[in-house]
Amino acid sequence: MAGASLSFSLIFRILCPPAKKKCRIIHKGGTMKYHAFARHNLDKLPTYGRLSQEQIRSIKIVSEVFPFKTNNYVVNELIDWDNYQTDPMYILNFPQREMLRPGQFKSLSDMVEGNASKADLAEYIQELRLNLNPHPAGQMEHNVPSLQGKVLTGIQHKYRETMLFFPTQGQTCHAYCTFCFRWPQFTGVNELKFAMKQASLMISYLKQNPSITDILITGGDPMVMKASILERYIQAILNADLPQLQTIRIGTKSLSFWPYRYLTDPDSGELLDIFRRVSERGIHLALMAHINHPVELGTDAAKEAITRIRNTGANIRSQSPLLRNINDDPATWSDMWKKQVKLGIVPYYMFVARDTGAHKYFGVSLERAHHIFNSAYQQTSGICRTVRGPSMSAGPGKVRIAGIAELKGEKVFVLEFLQGRNPEWVGKPFFAAFDADAQWLDDLQPAFGEKEFFYEQEYRKLLKVDKLPGHTLSSENKQYA
Ligand code: SF4
Repeated sequence: MAGASLSFSLIFRILCPPAKKKCRIIHKGGTMKYHAFARHNLDKLPTYGRLSQEQIRSIKIVSEVFPFKTNNYVVNELIDWDNYQTDPMYILNFPQREMLRPGQFKSLSDMVEGNASKADLAEYIQELRLNLNPHPAGQMEHNVPSLQGKVLTGIQHKYRETMLFFPTQGQTCHAYCTFCFRWPQFTGVNELKFAMKQASLMISYLKQNPSITDILITGGDPMVMKASILERYIQAILNADLPQLQTIRIGTKSLSFWPYRYLTDPDSGELLDIFRRVSERGIHLALMAHINHPVELGTDAAKEAITRIRNTGANIRSQSPLLRNINDDPATWSDMWKKQVKLGIVPYYMFVARDTGAHKYFGVSLERAHHIFNSAYQQTSGICRTVRGPSMSAGPGKVRIAGIAELKGEKVFVLEFLQGRNPEWVGKPFFAAFDADAQWLDDLQPAFGEKEFFYEQEYRKLLKVDKLPGHTLSSENKQYA
C-alpha cells in the first residue's frame, strides 16, 4: 500500500519528539491509537488533575448545551497545560463558562446540580440551543436542492459552480471546536442535522447541473470516514464521467486535530492512495484545512502529514474564522500565514465568526476584523497574499470588508461580494454606514440614506424560489465517536 510504511526513526520522531512533552504510547505496528474524551469520561483525561474545580464545573455545565470532545493528540501535543486557562488550543477545544450568559449558566447549573428531572433539563437545554441561532444564514431551509420532487437532504447548492456534499458517515470530528458554526450537527438533536448516504443521488444531481465544477465534501469532518467509505463516494464521482468537474475539495480539521490520520491510522496509506488517484485523473484535489492558530502547524505529526498529503499531488488551502480569545491579533495571523506558506499550504480565507452558538464569546467587531486582517496582511510578503477576508458567509453570499473610508462626508464600510447567490453581484463595491459595534452583515445599514443594499430585492426573490421544508436524517460514525 503506497505510503503505508514509515521508517522506525520517523515513527520515533513523530511519537517521541525531543520536546519536554511526554512520549505517547506506540501501539503494535507503530500506530497512534485515537482516544476521545468527553463529559462522560472527563476524569480519564491525562491532565485531569491540572484542571481547577471551577473549570471542571464549567466544562460539565456548558457541555450540556454545546458539544464537547477532545482527544489524546490535542491534549498531549497542542495544549500548553502550564498556561491552559488562556491557552488558545484549550479555549478552542474545552467549553468555557462565558460561552453562556451568566443567567443561563446559573439556571442550568441550578438544574444540573439540583437534580432537575431529565425531562425538564432536556426541555431547558433545547430552549437554550434554539435561542443560539442554530442554523445561521438559513442553512437548513435554503440552498437545499431537489431532484424529481425529492429533497436532497445532505446537499447544498448555493453558488453556481460549487456543490456541498455532507456524507452521513462524515458528520462528526476528531475533536469539536468550541466556536463551531455547525455545532447542532453534534448535539444529538435529530432535527438539527442534515446528511446523505446515497452517492447515486449526488451523481444524478451533478449530471443535471453541468455548471457545477467543484464538489466540496464536508461535515463534520469527512476525514473521520474510513478510507473505504470515502473511496465509495470518490469512486462514484470518478466513474460518473463528469466532464465539467475540475475540483474535489475536502473540508477538514484533521491536520490540526488528528494528523495521525495520514501517518499511522490503519488505513492511512489507502487514504493517501485515494488522493493520488484523484490527482492522476487530472482532477484537482484540494484539502480545505481549518487552521485556527499557528500552534496547530508546529508538531512533527502535523508537518509530516502535510508533506505526505502534498506528495499525492493534492493541494492544501487554509481557512479559519477570526475568533476573540483564540486568534484575534494581527501577529497570530501573519505568523500563521507565513508558516503555512513555508509548509506549502495556500492561505485562502479569514472568515468573520458566524452569529451562532457561543458567538457572544468569540465575536469580533467588523471594524476590528478589518484592522486585524489589514495589519496581518501588511506584515507578509506577496506570496502569502492569496488570502481573502475578512469575509462573512452570509445568506446572500460571501461578503468581504474591503475597507473603511470617508465618502461624501460619511464614514462607511466598503463591502464586496467574493461569492454571490447571483454571480453578477461579485466584485461590485457597495457601502454600509460605519457602525463600530457591528459584527455581521445583518447589523449594517446602507450608507448615504439608501433604503436597502443593491442585491436585497433580488435576494428576496431567490429565497422565495428555494425555500423548502426542514428535513431530518440521522448521522453516525463509530470510529471517532
Ligand atoms: S472541525 Fe469544523 S465541523 Fe468539526 S467542530 Fe470544528 S468547526 Fe465544527
